[in-house]
Amino acid sequence: MDLQTTILEAGGIYKKYASRLEKLNIKRLSDFLFHIPFRYDDYSLISKIGNVQRGEVVTIQGTVVEIKNELTKNWKRLQKAKVQDQTGSIDVIWFNQPYLVNVIRKGENISLSGKIDWYLHKIVLQSPEYEIGSSETIHTGRLVPVYSETRGVSSKWLRRQIYKILQDNKQKMLEYIPSSILKNNDLISLIEALEQIHFPKKLEYAEKARKRLAFNELFLIQLAALQKRFEWQNKLTSQPLEISRYKKQIEQFWENLPFDLTNAQKKAVSDIFRDLGSTRPMNRLLEGDVGSGKTVVSAIAMYLSFFNGFQSVFMAPTEILAQQHYNTINNLLSPFNVRVEIVTGSKKGRIMNQESNKFDILVGTHAVLGKKINFDKLGLVVIDEQQRFGVEQRAIIRQKGKNPHLLTMTATPIPRTIALTMYGDLDLSYLDEMPKGRKYIKTWLVNREKRNSAYEWIEKQINQTKSQAFIICPFIEESESMQTVRAATKEYGNLKKNIFPNLKLGMLHGKLKAKEKEKVLQDFRDKKTDILVATPVVEVGIDIPNATIMLIEASERFGLAQLHQLRGRVGRGDKQSYCLLFTESKSDQTIKRLKAMETTHVGAELAELDLRLRGPGEIYGTSQHGNKQLKVASFSDFALIEKTKKEAEKIFPRLRSYPLLLEKLNSITIKNISPD
Ligand code: ADP
Ligand code: MG
Repeated sequence: MDLQTTILEAGGIYKKYASRLEKLNIKRLSDFLFHIPFRYDDYSLISKIGNVQRGEVVTIQGTVVEIKNELTKNWKRLQKAKVQDQTGSIDVIWFNQPYLVNVIRKGENISLSGKIDWYLHKIVLQSPEYEIGSSETIHTGRLVPVYSETRGVSSKWLRRQIYKILQDNKQKMLEYIPSSILKNNDLISLIEALEQIHFPKKLEYAEKARKRLAFNELFLIQLAALQKRFEWQNKLTSQPLEISRYKKQIEQFWENLPFDLTNAQKKAVSDIFRDLGSTRPMNRLLEGDVGSGKTVVSAIAMYLSFFNGFQSVFMAPTEILAQQHYNTINNLLSPFNVRVEIVTGSKKGRIMNQESNKFDILVGTHAVLGKKINFDKLGLVVIDEQQRFGVEQRAIIRQKGKNPHLLTMTATPIPRTIALTMYGDLDLSYLDEMPKGRKYIKTWLVNREKRNSAYEWIEKQINQTKSQAFIICPFIEESESMQTVRAATKEYGNLKKNIFPNLKLGMLHGKLKAKEKEKVLQDFRDKKTDILVATPVVEVGIDIPNATIMLIEASERFGLAQLHQLRGRVGRGDKQSYCLLFTESKSDQTIKRLKAMETTHVGAELAELDLRLRGPGEIYGTSQHGNKQLKVASFSDFALIEKTKKEAEKIFPRLRSYPLLLEKLNSITIKNISPD
């Protein structure tokens, strides 16, 4: 057995506990060692029995003089022991643990940690942790680690296993971080770190251990990103696109747009063109707030690809978005004889029936991944809202061409620090400038008392300005469950009957059929409805310029970055737009957090704030983005991110001289969220 042994292979008690351990994400013996305590109980004060004082948390060590079960006056079961050392004796009591009399026996040496209390006019040690025998203690007499537990797996049990696994494997664990790096960064060795994170001699050692393990995590991610980037750049070749020959047409195209491209858009286009003209495939992330105009940038790239005789594919995460992008891209490019097609779950017809290749651009949902969808010459893959697609899906689409260029886009406001870590293998273009004339979306936090006047204001606004409103129902679960749909339907009924009987309301949720969704949206677009009640599905990409009011229910359930994205659904036209954040919360902290929406209008800044206030797990909803890889480090530790990045860059060219590090790197799967 070594650390890589799986829990099932390890047999015995481990095998029996396998499903419980799985809940704690412990699948191999090594995972025990990385099950990091979330706090320590300080039982390090060891006292002679004669010296204990009421109220103290202490450890005493002595001999069991007697132990027995007793019944209290109100029929509770009590376990009572007497323990003595050279200085005296003390009563020890527990409640409702009758088995203890079989575990703790008269005459044994025992170590007990707990609180000295008063019981029936006597000083007692109440419900202490106990540990039998006189060897090194792990549950008492020291800083004792406390772990996240699950039913049937207690901290005590975990502590025992971790201690044993550490002892058994200590000699075999090899240091894989080069000593020069350890020295430069004042880091303790791996073995020391693992020992001290679980069984620290002092709290400051636990802190040192934490520092070392956090360094490990970020350093390895940085190295993995560098490695991926290196492979992409050196092992893949693609056909470089000719640019100068088509410069005129391209410029003509963008001069004919009904607006001027922002400088940020122009810069992104030139970044992209530089990549497309190279012999290695582009791997670029285009990051930009909602409404910053990513679509048109990608359209220009696809147009260049078209001139070069290549097909492009544009993948969007939902049918609604695919349809909308199809309309946009078709409107932009079909006047220039570019053939744009669409394929979604419900729209397979045209492209499947005809010869499948008669298009220049295919827009679609993951339906484009289908086996029957083939390309003659796929040169460019564009993925919108890339975080919605899995690694496999991104790989499949790329395999439909020969190392096609890849442009991924996201409106998820990611703080730069995180982007540089998580997407370290990508080139980044950032649209940090909004199109001219865009107005800030006036945002108000609305508490319970002001709810009705807010509704009145909305009705008046709709009647006076002929604009439209979104009402977003509470976010209940990550994925759109029936529960979410039911809640939204109920709210819709209520709004229709009691709040806005004089307006026309539509309703959109994820469980509607594609056709129904489209109809609801079309009605809203055609102004047949005034208010669109929706579940949070509208978060991504819907573009309806006449909608100027966004009302978000239970806004405290969203992250700021998410709220910002929702808010971005309005403010698309030139009219002043508004966002009303409803909350029933009375917590000062929540109110303060939400208030930031009133004054801050840059997505990345809100994300940064979220990161500080709620931590990265919250923003990225671990399940969604697979960021569980960080157990100790934090993405808000900017200094450490910088440091590990520097060290990784320094050592990367010489990686081969460090076989242990290389081996470690190859043995782990960094669940990076950037495309593979
Ligand atoms: P996102 O970055 O959120 O995907 P879109 O590409 O959907 O944004 O663009 C949002 C809206 O802004 C669209 O209606 C688009 O036509 C418009 N738009 C894009 N670029 C500009 C610009 N430079 N000036 C004015 N409007 C623009
Ligand atoms: Mg978009």
